[in-house]
Amino acid sequence: MHIYDYIIIGSGLTGQTIATQLSQETQNVLLIEAEAFTGGSNRQALLNGNVIDAGIRFLPANDLSIKAVEQLENLLGLKLIKSEKENHPQTYDASGFKPFVGFGDKSPEFYDQFSYFLSPKELELTLPVHQIMELLKNKYQGETLMRSHVTKFGFAEQEEGSKAEPQLTHVVVNGSKTYYANNFIFAGPVRDLALIVPDDVLNIRAKAKLKKDSYWMAICLDLFHQDLTTEQEGLFVLDGTTDDGIGPCAGRFLPGVAADVSPTQKAQQISQWISFIDLTTAEETENVGEVLKKMKRQIKRAFPEMSDAIKAERIFMSPPLSGGELKMNSNGTLHKVNNLWIASASMNQYPNLLGSLLQSQMTLAALGFGGFQMAKADFAEEQAETTETQTEAEL
Ligand SMILES: Cc1cc2nc3c(=O)[nH]c(=O)nc-3n(C[C@H](O)[C@H](O)[C@H](O)COP(=O)(O)OP(=O)(O)OC[C@H]3O[C@@H](n4cnc5c(N)ncnc54)[C@H](O)[C@@H]3O)c2cc1C
Repeated sequence: MHIYDYIIIGSGLTGQTIATQLSQETQNVLLIEAEAFTGGSNRQALLNGNVIDAGIRFLPANDLSIKAVEQLENLLGLKLIKSEKENHPQTYDASGFKPFVGFGDKSPEFYDQFSYFLSPKELELTLPVHQIMELLKNKYQGETLMRSHVTKFGFAEQEEGSKAEPQLTHVVVNGSKTYYANNFIFAGPVRDLALIVPDDVLNIRAKAKLKKDSYWMAICLDLFHQDLTTEQEGLFVLDGTTDDGIGPCAGRFLPGVAADVSPTQKAQQISQWISFIDLTTAEETENVGEVLKKMKRQIKRAFPEMSDAIKAERIFMSPPLSGGELKMNSNGTLHKVNNLWIASASMNQYPNLLGSLLQSQMTLAALGFGGFQMAKADFAEEQAETTETQTEAEL
């Protein structure tokens, strides 16, 4: 029976960053991915032959995100920060485009998710995120299992009445194969722990708490435009005129595509849009359809000239983004299970890319690895400062 030093579950930005760093120290590492591709939501996407990031990859520029990307630069030995760019979102109403100043008393319910895109500054990277994922994957020196869904955590047998903490020993993949390790890092959606962890380790009450939170899912719409629609850079926040409970969307146009793309596939421009829907509402597919319809109406209202020139679109939804309540030990392991690190990005107070980077680095710091030495206290301080700055900016 082979015992890995580490098993990492999930090859998204969070899991892959951790796996790549750990594999620099020991190659006895196994990365397990449920899908047929690695990269999770940060993998590359294809839109009619055009290679793009899946959805907007917006990274707010602040001390916290700069430090987080610098850690990634150290791991890859490569410069990733290009510049800090002002972010002045624009909105559209009957009088035309104007600076977006806020939602007034009509804040969407998913404002916490949305406000991430309203940060006053953006960190521009030297590479698209999907290429960073490829570099991380190329640098990884352990083993990878694809199409392998971790369906159960297995614990060491304990004598009846034993007060010893449960020791995670193995994972079961696709309901049948078993893999053993000394340490486990979970970087999938935290809500899934309710299915994977046995009831005697995470009891029914704790599992119910995992589901208590309201979970938002991102709905991403990537559009392929045959014509150049706008040369206006930066983010647009579009809010509809109808009061139907469906919120605003944010998005932007990528620069026009160079003419060396094959003429049959040539997109003059691609635009990427994001909105949010809560998990319960999303269970009815027609509700998702309504949100998409509204997003398209909002976009067409602001850019009426482009409607005939949309040649293709990609739609995708994220797994639940916010995290439920989960009792953890101070080093990031699951309460009472001191060899299971919960690295899921949704546990971080910051969403999206930033949440992924911070959560992977906090996990690596807790594991005492590489240059990832930023103490938890520093993070807490940084996070408090950033929140203050954001609140000031919002006011
Ligand atoms: C479709 C989508 C669109 C998004 N759009 C944007 C955006 O436009 N802008 C932005 O800033 N952020 C966006 N986000 C959010 C952001 O990308 C994520 O919050 C974050 O970067 C996700 O990284 P991650 O590694 O934590 O998770 P993920 O990228 O979700 O990766 C998790 C990986 O774990 C695997 N996995 C899960 N459970 C198991 C299991 N039991 N066994 C084995 N493997 C498992 C999954 O297959 C997946 O590959 C989007 C997320 C998604 C999913």
